Amino acid sequence: MTSVTLVTGDGIGPEIAEAARRCIDATGVKINWEIREAGADVMARQGTPLPDATVESIRKNGIALKAPITTPVGTGFRSVNVHLRQALDLYACLRPCKSYKGVRSKYTGIDLVVVRENTEDLYAGVEFEKGKDDTAELINWLNSHSKKQIRQDSGISIKPISITGTRRIVQFAFDYARKMGRKKVTSVHKANIMKFTDGLWLEVSRQVAAENSDIEFEDRIVDNMCMQLVQKPELYDVLVLPNLYGDILSDLCAGLVGGLGVAPGANIGEKGAIFEATHGSAPKYKGLNKVNPIALILSGVLMLRHIGKMTEADKLETAVAAVIAEGKDVTYDMKEDRNDPSAVGTSQMADAIIAKIKKGS
Ligand code: NAD
Repeated sequence: MTSVTLVTGDGIGPEIAEAARRCIDATGVKINWEIREAGADVMARQGTPLPDATVESIRKNGIALKAPITTPVGTGFRSVNVHLRQALDLYACLRPCKSYKGVRSKYTGIDLVVVRENTEDLYAGVEFEKGKDDTAELINWLNSHSKKQIRQDSGISIKPISITGTRRIVQFAFDYARKMGRKKVTSVHKANIMKFTDGLWLEVSRQVAAENSDIEFEDRIVDNMCMQLVQKPELYDVLVLPNLYGDILSDLCAGLVGGLGVAPGANIGEKGAIFEATHGSAPKYKGLNKVNPIALILSGVLMLRHIGKMTEADKLETAVAAVIAEGKDVTYDMKEDRNDPSAVGTSQMADAIIAKIKKGS
């Protein structure tokens, strides 16, 4: 039996976590769920949004399904999500974007996977605030070592991209493509402008591609990539990107398939993997049994594939697709009119998915 930490989160988290757990169990997979808390609710009781017991459980099991967590503003605690990613070195952010019949979108037939580097680039957190002594010192040093001059009233964010970080994420993209029977990896960059960071990324991407020649490889400049994704997304398969471009293009691709309500995700590293919806904790809907559980359930599909439970994953995905295609037992956001009184609640949508699983097996 596989042990999985179920982090129930806050806001709408506990409701969608329960819906996802029930749907996953209905596939017949044997999972020992360790239910742990994180977020605003536990913060009120224990004084921390991320109790040690939660981190320890994820560390021990190496796998977690995590509901969304509100990032407390102004408490000094950076973000539970960022903290977990750093503590477990979850360097790969995986965002499959697939069209399901019945989800309203301008596009059909999309089946893309975005692999985003999670630890480097402009999001590394190395920043210097305008007006501080350190910043002035840095600007003076840079101005004396470069022909380009930086204005004294600048703020500075540093963009580190390493051979090590690039190699492991590009290799991850090839490994994922191979495991999932995908055909092509596209490395995205702006190497024509940022030669020492994106240029390095491209050079290492090409080296890793040469070591994985069973999978097709190509590269695209990020601005061209955006246009191509809007005009001919069917040409692309697995995209691998540095942190900033990955963040932006993940949302672009989620938009192609109908938005955040159906966008699953995962953060994966050598020591563990956390599967979670792309959307947040939507606090205004807390406790109303109203929101769509699909993104977290599809994150559960990714989790099942990650632990090698391919049949169970296919069963669950087929059932989700069938419920969405029917469009009957779905939450308000999937109805043409958001005030449609025939919309069902979170747990009733899970019931409909479970009924499809039972019918199919
Ligand atoms: P959000 O995703 O919570 O909500 C954005 C909009 O989408 C809202 O209008 C909400 O009503 C709707 N929505 C979200 N999930 C939905 C669902 N499952 N079904 C139907 N409608 C849904 O984004 P936000 O309001 O910017 O963030 C709220 C909190 O969540 C913030 O504190 C943010 O930091 C946090 N957050 C957490 C995660 C995470 O835990 N991984 C991710 C993103 C945001």
